[in-house]
This record gives sequence, structure tokens and C-alpha cells, in this order.
Amino acid sequence: MKVLWLDINSSYSHSSLAIPAMDAQLSASVKEMHSWEILSGSLKMGISWFTQRAVEYSPDIILSTLWLFNHSFAMEVLSRVHSLIPGVRIVLGGPEFLGENEGFLIKNRFIEAVFRGEGEEVFPEFVKRMGDLTHCYEMDGFCYLDKNGKYRDNGTAQVKSFHKLLPPEQSIYFPWDKPFVQLETSRGCFNRCAFCISGNQRIIDEVPLAEMEIRIEKIHKRGIKEIRILDRTFNANTIRASKMVRLFSKYNGEIEFHTEIHPSFMESEFRDSIEKAPAGTLHFEAGIQSFQEKTLASCNRYDKKEKTINGIKYLSSLEKHQVHTDLIAGLPFYTYQQLIDDLHILIEINPAEIQLESLKLLPGTELRKKAGEYGIKFSQLPPYEVLETPDISHTGLIKAHFLSVIIDLYYNNPEWRGLLTGLVKRNNFFLEKFTDHFFYAAYGKSLNNENKGLIIWNFCNSYFPAETEAVSIKWMEIGLSFTKGPGAESIPWKYSDMLHNPLFDKGSREHTYRYLEYPGRRHWFSYNRKTNSSKSLAKFTELF
Ligand code: SF4
Repeated sequence: MKVLWLDINSSYSHSSLAIPAMDAQLSASVKEMHSWEILSGSLKMGISWFTQRAVEYSPDIILSTLWLFNHSFAMEVLSRVHSLIPGVRIVLGGPEFLGENEGFLIKNRFIEAVFRGEGEEVFPEFVKRMGDLTHCYEMDGFCYLDKNGKYRDNGTAQVKSFHKLLPPEQSIYFPWDKPFVQLETSRGCFNRCAFCISGNQRIIDEVPLAEMEIRIEKIHKRGIKEIRILDRTFNANTIRASKMVRLFSKYNGEIEFHTEIHPSFMESEFRDSIEKAPAGTLHFEAGIQSFQEKTLASCNRYDKKEKTINGIKYLSSLEKHQVHTDLIAGLPFYTYQQLIDDLHILIEINPAEIQLESLKLLPGTELRKKAGEYGIKFSQLPPYEVLETPDISHTGLIKAHFLSVIIDLYYNNPEWRGLLTGLVKRNNFFLEKFTDHFFYAAYGKSLNNENKGLIIWNFCNSYFPAETEAVSIKWMEIGLSFTKGPGAESIPWKYSDMLHNPLFDKGSREHTYRYLEYPGRRHWFSYNRKTNSSKSLAKFTELF
């Protein structure tokens, strides 16, 4: 039988572990029962690209994984392939099938079966039975419509001994050519977050440290510089996490390890290990979601605001490991104003990155089941975004989206961060007002550095005139156009000028100079005309 793995990723750098994780479990004799082909690419390649190649291979069966962001795209490809090869059998798995599957199968009759849960342990048996329809789907996890059109559901499959699985790196399909690799070090989470697919009753199963050491060493030998650790809450077990950090530290910053951590769990042993880890060893994704305790409690998280704030402050104060934080708009009882307040707290702490996402009600999660109870309205199509709750209006969520864009453009970009941070700290309502303005000002514009500068400069001119000077200085530092916005207000200094130039370098004619004039002060900037960079070399403020 000719089997096609269809592997559709959101971008070139992101590659799903599903295929190598399944393939690694197949013995040579089982694998030889069929001929295998992988069709792998990103959404960018387009529907026709995948369709044409899939049809060229002329498979008997197609296996694929669906998740939030490839769902619609993959279904479009699969329906076309099925039209072109009507006899092809299609079996799907992935997080999109963790919930109710009957509706999906009724609507998409060309899909033969879907699989719910963790597939590695049942996969070899499935492959053996693949040729015989009658026995194929009687195993745990499979959902299908039988020959009478009756829905059959075999529950959720769970891997019983995750730590005994053969590692995905053993598969010929492991993506060694990507900028980073993913390493799943445990499965299951101690938490029960209502919005998360890992917030279920699964028992935590960990790969032993000795095995981790061997696997990391093999990855290192491949020249990989970044490993994303898939451990649902890395520091939930302080002793294990501390040992792992000591293991990571052996690579002396040659590999950066990304981990998802809980900012409230900063026990002394863990602190000690991360303080001793060489700079560049760790990159933390610190899950906050919200600082509002009522909101968190409604999602089964019982974190204390002060403890979380202290954890983020501590991590950010180390200044040698990247700290990324996240907030989620649309959670129960979370208002737009509270979201702004939480952003203020984070901006004050100054982590390397703040991500603001909208809640998505994922299939199989508790929050999706309780959406009616909480009065949450959400899109029925992937990515199932929350559209409105009793605590945040639809407009509020759209503004939250623009807030997220603002944070991404002006805070997460180190070039602009100092400016935005200063504006927000000096003006209580800056973020809210700027979001309202941005909503209209940015519409249909490419958000390059120059447009970013013009949007914030025009806004300050209209609503915070005392702040235009700060924006103008930033514009000149970055070296944006001297004919637009604040650049057009700058004055070139000529070598023949009588005006004293405090930045003037007598020994060089390679430099150009400009200044901005304000009552009682003059801001000077120097530039090098011979380099490609437009950034100012030096800045000086003269007071008089
Ligand atoms: S959000 Fe994080 S802590 Fe909560 S259940 Fe999911 S993985 Fe665990």
C-alpha cells in the first residue's frame, strides 16, 4: 500500500513532531509492509503545490495531522486530492480531534477516520491492520462512521509508558534542517488549566535524565543551536528542573534551551541553578495569562498576583536569560481595562517580550465545554477565537488585537521599547488612547519603521504634545527619513556653520550632523555617510 504523510506546517522553521514521533515506533518489518512518502512544506507553498505533489504520488492512504492553523488549509488540499483520486483513504489525527468528532465526520464524508489522543503506542498496530478496514479502527482513539453511517467513537488513546517510547530523533523524518529542534521531555501537566489541551487528568510521565543527556548530546553533535523543551511546566518539579538546568549549562551557551515555566515556582534550588547557568543558556516562556485572580480561578489556576509578579521581576532582573511573558484576552471575567492594567504591570517589569493573544476555545478543553455557562461567544471555525464575553465586548477584543500589534511593534522591538515604555510610564492613559488611534491610523498601512514612527508622532502631536520631542529624538536615533515627520524638522549642520557642534569630529569628514531645536535645549545627532546603517552614531543634548 502506498502511504503518504501529509505534513503542513505554519512556517518553514516550525515543524511538527507528529510524523517522526510515530515513525520512530515502527519496526523495520512493520514499516516494510507499505511504501512511504512524506510531503512536507509550509502554508506559504499554497494549496495547489501540495495537491499536485500528493496526486503525483498517487497514494492509497493519506495520513495527516490537523491543528488550529493548518486545519482549513489541509482540508482544502485533502478535498481536492480526494476529488482527483476518489478511492484514496484519508485518516487524520492531531489536536483538532480532541473534542467531539461526529459533526466533523458527517460534514466531511471523504475523511475515513480521525484519531483522538496520543498515537505512538497504537500506531504500529494500526499500520499492520491498515489494509483491512474491518479491524483497522477498533483500537483506542479512532472515531469513524461505520458502513451504515453510524458514528463510532473509541474514546481517547493515551500513551501508557511515554518514557519508553523510541525518540523521534531516530526517525528518518526528524527535521534536522530547521533552525531549532523540539525535545519532549515529559508528557502531562500537574495543572488543569481550563483553556489548555494539556489540562486533563493525564499522569505526568518523564523521560529519565540520563536518557535526556544522551539525546541532547546527539542533538549537539548535529550542530543544533536551539532546543525547545516540550515540558508543559518545566519548573513544576524543582529538583528535576534544577538538574536539567545544570545539564543545559554544560553547553556553556552553545545551545539555547527554551522552556515554559511557571513564574510563581521560583524555589531556591531552581534559582540557584539558573543564576549559575551561563548567559544565553536559557530562554523562558513565562505563562501568566492574567494577573486577575478571579479570572485565573475560573480557569483552575490559583496563582497569587504578588507571587507571579515577584517571579517575573526576579527572572527579568537576572538579565542573562530571555524572558517572554504572555497575557490572554477573552478569559472569563477579564475586562479590557484589566488587560490594560496588566500590561502596565508587565511594561514596568520590563521582560524581553510581552505576547498578548486572544483566547481560542480549543476542542476538548474544559472552557470550550463551559462556553455557554460563561456566556462566551466564539467562532465555530478554526482557530475558534473568542468573539465576546459578558466582560469584554467584541470591540474590546478587536482593540485587544490592536493592543497586541502595538506591543509587538513598539515593545517587543528593542529599538522602540525605551520610547513606548517611557510614554506609558509618564502617561496613565497613553496605551488606551494610542490603541484607539492606532485602530484607524494603521488601517491598510504597511507597518515598517517609518510608518510606525509617523503613526506615533502624529498621535503625540494631537494628544500628547509634550511627548513629541521624545518621539522625534527616537526618529533621529534610528535615522529615519530627514524629509518626513520629525526628520523634516531637523536641521543639517554644515562644516561652514558658525554654530558650535558638540559632536564635531575634527579628524573625520565622513560624518554628517543634524540637530533638533527646542526651547532651552538642542539635540545633536551624528551619522556616518560611508556605512549602510542609517542609525545615528552619537547623540548629545545641549542645555542653555
Ligand atoms: S497552560 Fe501550561 S500549566 Fe496550564 S495545563 Fe496547559 S501546560 Fe499545564
